[in-house]
Amino acid sequence: MSKPIEQIREEALAELSQAGDADAIRALWVKYLGRKGEVTGFLRNISELPKDQRPAAGKRANEVKKELESTFNESLERLAGQTGQYSEAIDVSLPGRPAPLGTLHPITRITRLISRVFARMGFGIAEGPEVESDYYNFEALNIPKNHPARDMQDTFYVSDNVVLRTHTSPIQVRYMEAHDPPIRIIAPGKVYRCDSDLTHTPMFHQVEGLLVDENVSFGDLKGVLTAFVHQVFDIQTSLRFRPSFFPFTEPSAEVDIQCVICRGSGCKVCSHTGWLEVLGCGMVHPVVFENVGYDTNRYSGFAFGMGVERIAMLKYGINDIRMFFENDIRFLRQF
Ligand SMILES: [Zn+2]
Repeated sequence: MSKPIEQIREEALAELSQAGDADAIRALWVKYLGRKGEVTGFLRNISELPKDQRPAAGKRANEVKKELESTFNESLERLAGQTGQYSEAIDVSLPGRPAPLGTLHPITRITRLISRVFARMGFGIAEGPEVESDYYNFEALNIPKNHPARDMQDTFYVSDNVVLRTHTSPIQVRYMEAHDPPIRIIAPGKVYRCDSDLTHTPMFHQVEGLLVDENVSFGDLKGVLTAFVHQVFDIQTSLRFRPSFFPFTEPSAEVDIQCVICRGSGCKVCSHTGWLEVLGCGMVHPVVFENVGYDTNRYSGFAFGMGVERIAMLKYGINDIRMFFENDIRFLRQF
């Protein structure tokens, strides 16, 4: 048996304190812990010791081995930290771990698509508060208290005069109060109604549009919406305007597009009519213009509004609106 283990340990630590660079430390590693190193040799020769000394000597030698390994490693890492080199503790040849990439939510994608189409026609984007006063959500839009039209929208009331907006139309009023014509804006955002089933959720997204100028006619409205439908769906999609009623437009219309599933021949999605309702629109009611101080003899304009979920369901062939909000990653990954 050569040196006692305590002597090997002291010599190794003394030499380490003199080692100036990584190569010197690696040489010490080989000298003490390598296959023919002194600690390794001590362990190999333990059987030469008297039987009663073997367990204690083996235990101690393994402790020294671990201590030297971690001390050598620490010294190497300290050196690497000073010089910017990697120590042997890091294998630089291993492949990196890629960070998983997400995708845009389908509602975000469709909102951006709609915004892009209108931006090309010169519409800017306006935004407003989701918690809105009764005045902006209803009264300024020609829906006074006790008006039957209030029943068309099941409203979340925060207090008597404060609501969660039921549409993004209040943004139009706020914008008109702050700007003179000509105006060309769209207003995308979240809206809230007490409603929940296969095609309705209490929170959903709308995009509304407003154009005000001199000599704006219903023909301009039809032109803009036709161009919109052709760009979001496709150029062959025909559309029709059906007379309707909204308190804030006169005349008002609902716009249907030819069923994107059956191309008009009739299927379950379109209830065998061949048509799908996609948006509401009309010429801005003079009362709305008076409320914001516009000269109704000089200016006219049109407004329209659509549900983003509705457009997304038709474009992607989704039949349950709740899928947009469950955030099942298997669903979201498909977009
Ligand atoms: Zn159909």
